[in-house]
Amino acid sequence: MKIGDLSQKCPKCGCVDKTVKRDLDTEHHAHAKTGAVICSECGYVFKSPKSEKKEE
Ligand SMILES: [Zn+2]
Repeated sequence: MKIGDLSQKCPKCGCVDKTVKRDLDTEHHAHAKTGAVICSECGYVFKSPKSEKKEE
């Protein structure tokens, strides 16, 4: 998989280690969001990969 957000640093803790939540993950069904990127360190939820780089 290729997600641009994965190269971003967490704005809260600065950690670059992330977890990608997918619909397949039924552990947190309530928060199930296709391609949601979550900081593995503090749990910060990044924007969905849908919003790709637009800083060009
Ligand atoms: Zn974090």
